[in-house]
Amino acid sequence: MRRVHLLCVLAAFSLTASLNVALAQEIIDTPTHRLEEVAEGIYFATGNGALYTMSNALIIERDEDVVVVDSHITPAAGRALLDSIRVVTSKPVTTLINSHYHYDHANGVPAFGPDIEIIGHEVTYEKLTADPANEHTYLSSLQRFDNTVARLEQELENASSTQERQELQEQLEFWQAHVSAQDEIVFTPPTTTLRDTLTLYRGGREIQLHYFGRAHTGGDLAIYLPEEKIVFTGDMMLGGVSYMGDGYVTEWADTLQALKQLDFDLVLPGHGPGFSDRARIDNVQAYYTDLTEEVRRLKGLGYSAEEAATRADLRQHADTLGITQLGANLEAVQRMYDIMDGLIE
Ligand SMILES: [Zn+2]
Repeated sequence: MRRVHLLCVLAAFSLTASLNVALAQEIIDTPTHRLEEVAEGIYFATGNGALYTMSNALIIERDEDVVVVDSHITPAAGRALLDSIRVVTSKPVTTLINSHYHYDHANGVPAFGPDIEIIGHEVTYEKLTADPANEHTYLSSLQRFDNTVARLEQELENASSTQERQELQEQLEFWQAHVSAQDEIVFTPPTTTLRDTLTLYRGGREIQLHYFGRAHTGGDLAIYLPEEKIVFTGDMMLGGVSYMGDGYVTEWADTLQALKQLDFDLVLPGHGPGFSDRARIDNVQAYYTDLTEEVRRLKGLGYSAEEAATRADLRQHADTLGITQLGANLEAVQRMYDIMDGLIE
Protein backbone atom coordinates (compact mmCIF):
# COMPACT_ATOMS: atom_id res chain seq x y z
CA MET A 1 0.00 0.00 0.00
CA ARG A 2 1.38 3.34 -1.00
CA ARG A 3 1.13 5.92 1.75
CA VAL A 4 1.73 9.49 0.80
CA HIS A 5 2.46 12.48 2.97
CA LEU A 6 3.12 15.95 1.77
CA LEU A 7 6.03 17.53 3.50
CA CYS A 8 5.89 21.26 3.09
CA VAL A 9 9.26 22.87 2.98
CA LEU A 10 9.24 26.52 3.81
CA ALA A 11 11.39 28.31 1.32
CA ALA A 12 12.98 31.06 3.30
CA PHE A 13 15.18 33.25 1.17
CA SER A 14 18.83 32.99 2.03
CA LEU A 15 22.12 33.54 0.23
CA THR A 16 22.96 29.85 0.28
CA ALA A 17 19.61 28.13 -0.32
CA SER A 18 18.18 28.75 -3.74
CA LEU A 19 14.48 29.25 -4.37
CA ASN A 20 14.73 26.54 -7.01
CA VAL A 21 14.48 23.95 -4.24
CA ALA A 22 11.11 22.26 -4.56
CA LEU A 23 8.42 23.80 -2.38
CA ALA A 24 6.81 20.47 -1.59
CA GLN A 25 8.28 16.97 -1.58
CA GLU A 26 6.35 13.77 -1.65
CA ILE A 27 7.36 11.12 0.89
CA ILE A 28 6.45 7.53 0.10
CA ASP A 29 6.76 4.98 2.91
CA THR A 30 7.35 1.39 1.80
CA PRO A 31 7.71 -1.55 4.21
CA THR A 32 11.51 -1.03 4.28
CA HIS A 33 12.23 2.45 2.94
CA ARG A 34 11.39 6.10 3.03
CA LEU A 35 11.40 7.40 -0.54
CA GLU A 36 11.67 11.15 -0.82
CA GLU A 37 10.69 12.39 -4.28
CA VAL A 38 13.27 15.15 -4.65
CA ALA A 39 12.30 15.91 -8.27
CA GLU A 40 9.76 14.33 -10.58
CA GLY A 41 10.63 10.63 -10.86
CA ILE A 42 13.74 10.96 -8.67
CA TYR A 43 13.66 9.38 -5.23
CA PHE A 44 16.18 9.59 -2.39
CA ALA A 45 15.91 6.20 -0.67
CA THR A 46 16.73 5.73 3.00
CA GLY A 47 16.14 2.62 5.10
CA ASN A 48 13.34 2.87 7.69
CA GLY A 49 14.94 0.43 10.14
CA ALA A 50 13.01 -2.70 9.09
CA LEU A 51 16.33 -4.23 8.02
CA TYR A 52 19.88 -2.96 8.01
CA THR A 53 20.62 -0.91 4.87
CA MET A 54 23.38 1.31 6.34
CA SER A 55 23.66 3.62 3.30
CA ASN A 56 21.37 5.76 1.13
CA ALA A 57 20.46 5.09 -2.49
CA LEU A 58 19.07 7.17 -5.36
CA ILE A 59 16.36 6.03 -7.76
CA ILE A 60 16.22 7.79 -11.15
CA GLU A 61 13.26 7.01 -13.37
CA ARG A 62 13.74 7.46 -17.12
CA ASP A 63 11.18 7.14 -19.96
CA GLU A 64 11.55 3.37 -20.27
CA ASP A 65 13.68 2.21 -17.34
CA VAL A 66 15.21 2.98 -13.96
CA VAL A 67 18.78 3.83 -12.92
CA VAL A 68 19.79 3.19 -9.30
CA VAL A 69 22.77 4.68 -7.47
CA ASP A 70 24.21 2.38 -4.76
CA SER A 71 22.78 -0.91 -3.56
CA HIS A 72 23.08 -0.95 0.28
CA ILE A 73 25.08 -3.34 2.44
CA THR A 74 23.77 -6.85 1.62
CA PRO A 75 21.89 -8.59 -1.22
CA ALA A 76 18.87 -8.75 1.13
CA ALA A 77 18.96 -4.98 1.57
CA GLY A 78 19.39 -4.60 -2.21
CA ARG A 79 16.29 -6.77 -2.76
CA ALA A 80 14.33 -4.63 -0.31
CA LEU A 81 15.38 -1.57 -2.31
CA LEU A 82 14.14 -3.22 -5.52
CA ASP A 83 10.82 -4.05 -3.80
CA SER A 84 10.52 -0.42 -2.73
CA ILE A 85 11.18 0.74 -6.29
CA ARG A 86 8.21 -1.42 -7.35
CA VAL A 87 5.98 0.76 -5.16
CA VAL A 88 6.69 3.82 -7.33
CA THR A 89 7.27 2.34 -10.81
CA SER A 90 6.96 -0.90 -12.76
CA LYS A 91 9.74 0.07 -15.21
CA PRO A 92 12.72 -2.32 -15.29
CA VAL A 93 15.90 -1.44 -13.39
CA THR A 94 18.60 -1.62 -16.07
CA THR A 95 21.53 0.32 -14.66
CA LEU A 96 23.30 0.53 -11.32
CA ILE A 97 25.91 3.16 -10.51
CA ASN A 98 28.45 2.57 -7.70
CA SER A 99 29.40 5.80 -5.93
CA HIS A 100 32.48 3.95 -4.56
CA TYR A 101 33.63 0.45 -3.65
CA HIS A 102 32.84 0.38 0.08
CA TYR A 103 30.93 -2.66 1.36
CA ASP A 104 27.97 -0.66 2.65
CA HIS A 105 27.26 0.81 -0.81
CA ALA A 106 28.28 -2.03 -3.14
CA ASN A 107 27.49 -5.35 -1.46
CA GLY A 108 23.80 -5.29 -2.41
CA VAL A 109 24.71 -5.58 -6.10
CA PRO A 110 23.90 -9.34 -6.53
CA ALA A 111 20.23 -8.53 -5.83
CA PHE A 112 20.09 -6.78 -9.21
CA GLY A 113 20.77 -9.98 -11.15
CA PRO A 114 23.36 -10.96 -13.76
CA ASP A 115 22.08 -8.73 -16.59
CA ILE A 116 22.37 -5.39 -14.83
CA GLU A 117 24.81 -2.83 -16.20
CA ILE A 118 27.02 -1.67 -13.32
CA ILE A 119 28.90 1.59 -13.79
CA GLY A 120 31.74 2.57 -11.48
CA HIS A 121 35.12 4.22 -11.30
CA GLU A 122 38.23 2.29 -12.38
CA VAL A 123 39.39 2.22 -8.75
CA THR A 124 36.07 0.66 -7.73
CA TYR A 125 36.68 -2.07 -10.32
CA GLU A 126 40.25 -2.58 -9.11
CA LYS A 127 39.18 -2.81 -5.46
CA LEU A 128 36.29 -5.20 -6.12
CA THR A 129 38.41 -7.51 -8.28
CA ALA A 130 41.51 -7.48 -6.03
CA ASP A 131 40.85 -8.76 -2.50
CA PRO A 132 37.61 -7.09 -1.32
CA ALA A 133 36.97 -9.73 1.38
CA ASN A 134 40.19 -8.67 3.10
CA GLU A 135 39.80 -4.88 2.83
CA HIS A 136 40.42 -3.56 6.35
CA THR A 137 37.27 -1.41 6.35
CA TYR A 138 35.13 -4.42 5.43
CA LEU A 139 36.83 -6.70 7.98
CA SER A 140 36.39 -4.17 10.77
CA SER A 141 32.69 -3.89 9.91
CA LEU A 142 32.29 -7.68 10.27
CA GLN A 143 33.99 -7.47 13.65
CA ARG A 144 31.77 -4.56 14.68
CA PHE A 145 28.54 -6.42 13.82
CA ASP A 146 29.76 -9.59 15.60
CA ASN A 147 30.61 -7.48 18.65
CA THR A 148 27.14 -5.91 18.59
CA VAL A 149 25.49 -9.34 18.56
CA ALA A 150 27.74 -10.57 21.39
CA ARG A 151 27.05 -7.46 23.47
CA LEU A 152 23.28 -7.76 23.01
CA GLU A 153 23.37 -11.48 23.91
CA GLN A 154 25.20 -10.56 27.10
CA GLU A 155 22.81 -7.72 27.91
CA LEU A 156 19.84 -9.99 27.27
CA GLU A 157 21.24 -12.50 29.74
CA ASN A 158 21.52 -9.77 32.37
CA ALA A 159 18.21 -8.05 31.59
CA SER A 160 16.02 -7.56 34.64
CA SER A 161 12.59 -6.59 33.29
CA THR A 162 10.32 -8.20 30.69
CA GLN A 163 10.18 -4.96 28.72
CA GLU A 164 13.95 -4.61 28.67
CA ARG A 165 14.27 -8.24 27.59
CA GLN A 166 11.78 -7.72 24.78
CA GLU A 167 13.58 -4.62 23.48
CA LEU A 168 16.95 -6.36 23.59
CA GLN A 169 15.49 -9.44 21.89
CA GLU A 170 14.23 -7.27 19.01
CA GLN A 171 17.59 -5.54 18.63
CA LEU A 172 19.37 -8.88 18.76
CA GLU A 173 17.15 -10.35 16.03
CA PHE A 174 17.73 -7.25 13.86
CA TRP A 175 21.53 -7.62 14.06
CA GLN A 176 21.45 -11.42 13.79
CA ALA A 177 19.42 -11.05 10.59
CA HIS A 178 22.04 -8.66 9.24
CA VAL A 179 24.94 -10.95 10.19
CA SER A 180 23.32 -13.94 8.42
CA ALA A 181 22.49 -11.74 5.40
CA GLN A 182 26.25 -11.23 5.00
CA ASP A 183 26.59 -14.91 4.00
CA GLU A 184 24.99 -14.03 0.67
CA ILE A 185 27.57 -11.38 -0.26
CA VAL A 186 29.30 -11.93 -3.60
CA PHE A 187 31.64 -9.05 -4.42
CA THR A 188 30.55 -7.82 -7.85
CA PRO A 189 32.67 -5.34 -9.82
CA PRO A 190 31.37 -2.76 -12.32
CA THR A 191 30.73 -3.92 -15.89
CA THR A 192 31.56 -0.45 -17.24
CA THR A 193 34.20 1.84 -15.79
CA LEU A 194 35.18 5.47 -16.14
CA ARG A 195 38.20 7.50 -15.17
CA ASP A 196 37.02 11.13 -15.29
CA THR A 197 33.49 11.66 -16.62
CA LEU A 198 30.65 9.78 -18.27
CA THR A 199 27.21 11.09 -19.23
CA LEU A 200 24.05 9.02 -19.74
CA TYR A 201 21.50 10.69 -22.05
CA ARG A 202 18.90 7.93 -22.45
CA GLY A 203 15.21 8.31 -21.68
CA GLY A 204 14.72 12.04 -21.25
CA ARG A 205 17.24 12.33 -18.45
CA GLU A 206 20.81 13.60 -18.36
CA ILE A 207 22.89 11.82 -15.72
CA GLN A 208 26.49 12.99 -15.36
CA LEU A 209 29.11 10.96 -13.51
CA HIS A 210 32.13 12.93 -12.33
CA TYR A 211 35.39 11.93 -10.73
CA PHE A 212 36.94 15.05 -9.21
CA GLY A 213 39.98 13.51 -7.54
CA ARG A 214 40.71 11.37 -4.51
CA ALA A 215 38.73 12.01 -1.33
CA HIS A 216 36.89 9.37 0.77
CA THR A 217 38.43 6.67 -1.48
CA GLY A 218 40.59 6.68 -4.58
CA GLY A 219 37.52 6.49 -6.83
CA ASP A 220 34.59 8.53 -5.55
CA LEU A 221 31.94 9.51 -8.08
CA ALA A 222 29.56 12.46 -7.91
CA ILE A 223 26.30 11.64 -9.71
CA TYR A 224 24.93 14.91 -11.06
CA LEU A 225 21.55 15.73 -12.58
CA PRO A 226 22.06 19.14 -14.25
CA GLU A 227 18.41 19.70 -15.19
CA GLU A 228 17.20 18.99 -11.65
CA LYS A 229 20.27 20.61 -10.00
CA ILE A 230 20.76 17.62 -7.72
CA VAL A 231 24.05 15.90 -6.86
CA PHE A 232 24.44 12.53 -5.11
CA THR A 233 27.85 12.62 -3.45
CA GLY A 234 28.22 9.15 -1.92
CA ASP A 235 30.63 9.48 1.01
CA MET A 236 32.86 12.10 -0.61
CA MET A 237 30.59 14.70 0.99
CA LEU A 238 28.31 13.92 3.94
CA GLY A 239 26.62 16.44 6.20
CA GLY A 240 29.84 16.52 8.25
CA VAL A 241 33.27 14.84 8.30
CA SER A 242 33.32 11.43 6.54
CA TYR A 243 35.10 8.18 7.44
CA MET A 244 38.77 8.74 6.59
CA GLY A 245 40.12 5.17 6.95
CA ASP A 246 40.53 4.74 3.16
CA GLY A 247 40.67 8.46 2.45
CA TYR A 248 43.14 10.95 1.04
CA VAL A 249 42.73 13.77 3.52
CA THR A 250 45.50 15.94 2.03
CA GLU A 251 43.70 15.97 -1.36
CA TRP A 252 40.10 15.99 -0.14
CA ALA A 253 39.55 19.79 0.05
CA ASP A 254 40.68 20.19 -3.58
CA THR A 255 38.28 17.46 -4.69
CA LEU A 256 35.41 19.22 -2.91
CA GLN A 257 36.48 22.50 -4.53
CA ALA A 258 35.91 20.86 -7.92
CA LEU A 259 32.55 19.45 -6.74
CA LYS A 260 31.47 22.98 -5.83
CA GLN A 261 31.88 24.08 -9.45
CA LEU A 262 28.72 22.12 -10.30
CA ASP A 263 25.46 24.08 -10.29
CA PHE A 264 23.26 22.31 -7.71
CA ASP A 265 20.61 23.19 -5.14
CA LEU A 266 20.46 19.87 -3.33
CA VAL A 267 23.19 17.53 -2.06
CA LEU A 268 22.18 13.92 -1.39
CA PRO A 269 24.90 12.15 0.62
CA GLY A 270 25.62 8.43 1.03
CA HIS A 271 24.60 8.63 4.70
CA GLY A 272 22.26 11.01 6.49
CA PRO A 273 19.73 13.50 5.15
CA GLY A 274 20.07 15.69 2.07
CA PHE A 275 20.90 19.37 2.42
CA SER A 276 20.98 22.60 0.43
CA ASP A 277 23.44 24.63 2.48
CA ARG A 278 26.66 24.87 0.46
CA ALA A 279 28.48 26.27 3.50
CA ARG A 280 28.60 22.70 4.81
CA ILE A 281 31.04 21.87 2.04
CA ASP A 282 33.20 24.87 2.97
CA ASN A 283 33.17 23.70 6.59
CA VAL A 284 34.44 20.17 5.93
CA GLN A 285 36.94 21.48 3.37
CA ALA A 286 38.35 23.73 6.10
CA TYR A 287 38.51 20.74 8.47
CA TYR A 288 40.45 18.53 6.02
CA THR A 289 42.82 21.41 5.24
CA ASP A 290 43.43 22.16 8.93
CA LEU A 291 43.82 18.46 9.79
CA THR A 292 46.43 18.16 7.03
CA GLU A 293 48.36 21.17 8.37
CA GLU A 294 48.10 20.01 11.96
CA VAL A 295 49.30 16.47 11.19
CA ARG A 296 52.20 17.80 9.08
CA ARG A 297 53.18 20.13 11.93
CA LEU A 298 53.07 17.41 14.61
CA LYS A 299 54.88 14.90 12.39
CA GLY A 300 57.54 17.57 11.76
CA LEU A 301 58.00 17.89 15.53
CA GLY A 302 58.77 14.17 15.70
CA TYR A 303 55.53 12.92 17.24
CA SER A 304 54.28 9.42 16.46
CA ALA A 305 50.90 9.01 14.74
CA GLU A 306 49.37 8.02 18.10
CA GLU A 307 50.75 11.15 19.76
CA ALA A 308 49.67 13.35 16.85
CA ALA A 309 46.14 11.90 16.99
CA THR A 310 45.97 12.82 20.68
CA ARG A 311 47.48 16.29 20.30
CA ALA A 312 45.87 17.50 17.05
CA ASP A 313 43.88 20.62 17.82
CA LEU A 314 40.91 21.11 15.48
CA ARG A 315 38.70 22.87 18.01
CA GLN A 316 38.36 25.89 15.74
CA HIS A 317 35.68 23.68 14.09
CA ALA A 318 33.54 23.53 17.24
CA ASP A 319 30.81 25.84 15.93
CA THR A 320 30.55 24.35 12.44
CA LEU A 321 31.30 20.65 13.05
CA GLY A 322 30.89 20.20 16.80
CA ILE A 323 34.57 19.38 17.40
CA THR A 324 35.04 20.44 21.01
CA GLN A 325 37.68 17.90 22.14
CA LEU A 326 41.40 17.87 21.46
CA GLY A 327 42.49 15.09 19.08
CA ALA A 328 41.72 13.51 15.72
CA ASN A 329 40.78 10.03 14.51
CA LEU A 330 43.83 7.75 14.95
CA GLU A 331 43.07 5.61 11.89
CA ALA A 332 42.93 8.77 9.76
CA VAL A 333 46.15 10.19 11.23
CA GLN A 334 47.99 6.86 10.86
CA ARG A 335 46.93 6.69 7.21
CA MET A 336 48.10 10.28 6.65
CA TYR A 337 51.49 9.35 8.16
CA ASP A 338 51.69 6.29 5.89
CA ILE A 339 50.87 8.40 2.83
CA MET A 340 53.39 11.09 3.85
CA ASP A 341 56.02 8.36 4.39
CA GLY A 342 55.30 6.88 0.96
CA LEU A 343 54.00 3.59 2.41
CA ILE A 344 50.68 4.10 0.61
CA GLU A 345 50.63 5.50 -2.91
ZN1 LIG B 1 32.27 4.81 2.08
